[in-house]
Amino acid sequence: MIAYSQLLSELDWIPKPKLAALRRLEIETVEDLLTHYPRRYEDRTHFAPFPREESDTPILVCGEVVKTRLVRFGGWKKIFEATLEESGANALSQPLVLRWFNLHYVQKMIATGQRLVVFGKPRLRKNRVCMEHPEFEVIENDDEISVHFRRITPIYPATEGLSQRVFRGLIFATLENLDAESVPTLLPKSVKLGSREHALHEIHFPTTTAQGDAARKHLVFSEFFAMQLLIGSRRVAAITRPGQAQAAPGALLERFLRALPFDLTAAQERVFVELRRDLASPQPMNRLLQGDVGSGKTVIAIAAMLLAVESGSQAALMAPTQILAEQHFGVLCRWLEPLGVRVALRTGARQEDNAPLPLFSGDDSADRPHIIVGTHALLYEGVAFETLGLAVIDEQHKFGVSQRARLTSREPAPDVLVMTATPIPRTLTMTVYGDLDVSVIDQMPADRGKIVTAVRDRNKLPEVLLFIRKELEAGRQAYVVYPLIDESDKLDAKAAAAEFEQWRERLRPFRCELLHGRIPAPEKQAIMERFRRGETGALISTTVVEVGVDVSNATVMLIENAERFGLAQLHQLRGRIGRGTHKSYCILLSDEKAPETVAKLAVLEKTSDGFAVAEADWEMRGPGDLLGTAQSGLPALKLGNLVRDADLMREARAAATAILAVDPLLASRENQRFKELIVEQHGRTFSNVC
Ligand code: ADP
Ligand code: MG
Repeated sequence: MIAYSQLLSELDWIPKPKLAALRRLEIETVEDLLTHYPRRYEDRTHFAPFPREESDTPILVCGEVVKTRLVRFGGWKKIFEATLEESGANALSQPLVLRWFNLHYVQKMIATGQRLVVFGKPRLRKNRVCMEHPEFEVIENDDEISVHFRRITPIYPATEGLSQRVFRGLIFATLENLDAESVPTLLPKSVKLGSREHALHEIHFPTTTAQGDAARKHLVFSEFFAMQLLIGSRRVAAITRPGQAQAAPGALLERFLRALPFDLTAAQERVFVELRRDLASPQPMNRLLQGDVGSGKTVIAIAAMLLAVESGSQAALMAPTQILAEQHFGVLCRWLEPLGVRVALRTGARQEDNAPLPLFSGDDSADRPHIIVGTHALLYEGVAFETLGLAVIDEQHKFGVSQRARLTSREPAPDVLVMTATPIPRTLTMTVYGDLDVSVIDQMPADRGKIVTAVRDRNKLPEVLLFIRKELEAGRQAYVVYPLIDESDKLDAKAAAAEFEQWRERLRPFRCELLHGRIPAPEKQAIMERFRRGETGALISTTVVEVGVDVSNATVMLIENAERFGLAQLHQLRGRIGRGTHKSYCILLSDEKAPETVAKLAVLEKTSDGFAVAEADWEMRGPGDLLGTAQSGLPALKLGNLVRDADLMREARAAATAILAVDPLLASRENQRFKELIVEQHGRTFSNVC
């Protein structure tokens, strides 16, 4: 009998070289082997009759090799041919010719008299039915037939040094001798999905397709449930630490809100109530604030920071980039200095600011800033927060769980607000941000004009120009954006400069200015200022306008080579227009006709809702990338797919939450096994954050 937790090296029937090959795939235990899941299946329940015609659907046939030959051509090139005959062949049946080009090893594997199973697309070549480079397996004895054929057969991810056949054989033998009692089913009692042991049998060697699907459901659910227990327990750990109750009456806040030139939207009001409640509670806040570009997250974050300041703490606002930090700083100074709130900036570029801040000694000297704005790194390397009450992290996928943990590991724990400008698909919110409470600003300020987006071929440029000129004549302003990959690249800057000359001609007599990353900061600011004041008609720029530009009179954005940008970035870019009451227009110039590109750009024409864009982006690119860069600190998924299995994730989360609600520390005897599951996952957790 084989136990689930056993090391493969203890199973003496596995030859040493195979063990070594398995180890290279990080498969060391029986569990590792059995959770190396099939990539797909082949229905080998029935062999097809030998084909007589071409077909684009691959078929599976079985037959005997009656002839082999090697054809040489063009000097060193070789074609190896094996002729296969159907068993019980009659006068009408036609042999099938299998052909391989320049594959030496195939020639060594196939000999006359063997029985072969082949899988491929039949083609007609000079009146012969052929298969070129089919997948094949040699049938050695009838035992093998029962493992590899006459069933729905698993096909595993390509494995170096181990053939499909060997892999399948190993898993089959292991399952045959597996001690069912040794396989723990780690699911809540309420979930009726059968035993894990049964699911493992069926995922590798499904009795029927339906049973294979049911097995997958069991295993994906288990995987998600374990992940949600881990996330839930992290959350419990975060909120059970001593925090601070920041419950100022809000006089400063009142003055700030009254000075704003607008009223908060209902969504902003609602979210702020949530934040205020969290701040007032002695439990540390861990909240994610989501909202589309321009929905007014920053205003809400400032309001929250003011409550912290008024409660006697300091607040920090962290931005992912220098530009964004400076922009936030500008906004905060403008709004808060009149209220007597001291704001300081700390970023890498401003070296003079980087001496340790004596201001943070906890004394109440007149210089001590109330709010510090900076980039992520500096804020927790260079500054000793003595009274940090609230940390606002403007994140955009750049801040990981462990970084957050480092910031908040102090006592008492500060309240943490994570803001994302990029809407996150809901399933991802449940995983990567699963340990956070979520607030969503799902409404744009009422004074915003509509944004119409259109994709245009480059040969439509004359019409597009006419349109832009019309807007300029009406007193509006425009952005023209170039996809320069590397802002520091001289060549790119030159390209932008050349394009700029053209645009000057095209838009004469309106004034154009060029903006890119290599322009020195003071000049950049002057250029922006002239644009803000309306002296410049059009800004020809690289993606530096992506963040931090807020000019409500700008109503047109033309994006060159739009196909080179990602969906999320395009959405972010177009968030720069539609900031005033006028209707705005985003024109995506692209000549690319590849279906993926066309589909991608069409998403933006169809919707201006950031969440819809994010979901579409995710479906097109797949979640892998996002999970990785999000530095989630979660174990990698082996089977589950965050897009396809979103419903299962929701159920798993509900199940985990229900258990933790009753027994947050998993202290009860029956929950002991779940606790072990969490500890074990901590060990496997990947964390690409230093
Ligand atoms: P986000 O951070 O979500 O992208 P901001 O907070 O930067 O959005 O707000 C975008 C712009 O909208 C800013 O100029 C801000 O002053 C303005 N704004 C914020 N809230 C409102 C509102 N309720 N009504 C009108 N304008 C608003
Ligand atoms: Mg913002």
